[in-house]
Amino acid sequence: MGRYAVFGQPIAHSLSPRIHAAFGAQLGIALDYRAIEAGRDGFAARVAAFARDGGRGANVTLPLKQDALVLCADLSERARRAGSVNTLIRVGDGWHGDSTDGAGLLRDLRERHGFDSCGRRVLLLGAGGAARAAAFAFADAGASELAIANRTFDRAAELAQAIGDAARAVALDELEALGRFDLVVNATAAGHAGTSAALPRSLLDADALCYDLSYGKAAQAFLDAARRAGASRASDGLGMLVEQAAESFAVWHGTRPETAAVYAALREG
Ligand code: NAP
Repeated sequence: MGRYAVFGQPIAHSLSPRIHAAFGAQLGIALDYRAIEAGRDGFAARVAAFARDGGRGANVTLPLKQDALVLCADLSERARRAGSVNTLIRVGDGWHGDSTDGAGLLRDLRERHGFDSCGRRVLLLGAGGAARAAAFAFADAGASELAIANRTFDRAAELAQAIGDAARAVALDELEALGRFDLVVNATAAGHAGTSAALPRSLLDADALCYDLSYGKAAQAFLDAARRAGASRASDGLGMLVEQAAESFAVWHGTRPETAAVYAALREG
């Protein structure tokens, strides 16, 4: 039976083992997918032990996505650009690193929220690993404008510069002056501390979508801020979680699972 895992800290409440077990059952693929607790100190040793035990692939989550980069013998283009790895694939004696976050986000936006990013104005909050993956995915999808705001402005500026003409860094205290957006994405970890950037009402078009990459309690502060700003459509990132998992599953097993039933089951709790 193929061995797979998700590494992170904290990891006990990860939904990934449940998601991958459901995908495997759906497609008749026997797999053993476990959650392995690892902080930054012990990560490399735990991944090496996992490889010795026959591990074929792994997901990597907070706080390890940048550490995973340096474990890899080579990287996909999307992982290299994002500067973060959420998917490890065993190839020979080493790891190939990939990033499925951007593709998972775009697919959730398109399939579950009917949002096509091409030609749309997008405001992205955050400049960490997930924000970088999202930013390149929006640029590739043809977003007409990508404004990036982050607590540490220089990281937003560096990301906007890496993307090029379609992107610009904006200050968090200037959001009111930016005009209206079709999509506002929160890719910060602020929600884990129960906070969110304030969203001025002037940001949102009548049918604008507000989207937090986090889910559960961590998404609440941003979703509340979105509703206060008049958003009629606001979503957490549970759909992205399922879609990035399906993308990783496809990389490992060569076939993409259906996600609707798994998503519905997770929503029910
Ligand atoms: P990361 O690389 O650590 O980046 C964290 C980002 O959040 C940075 O932009 C950081 O700003 C900002 N931030 C952290 N604490 C903040 C606070 N108290 N106030 C304002 N900004 C704050 O993390 P990541 O991997 O990008 O993950 C970001 C979020 O996306 C997490 O909540 C994660 O759970 C979620 N996520 C969800 C999925 C999914 O599948 N649904 C996938 C990936 C990530 P500075 O640059 O100033 O430090």
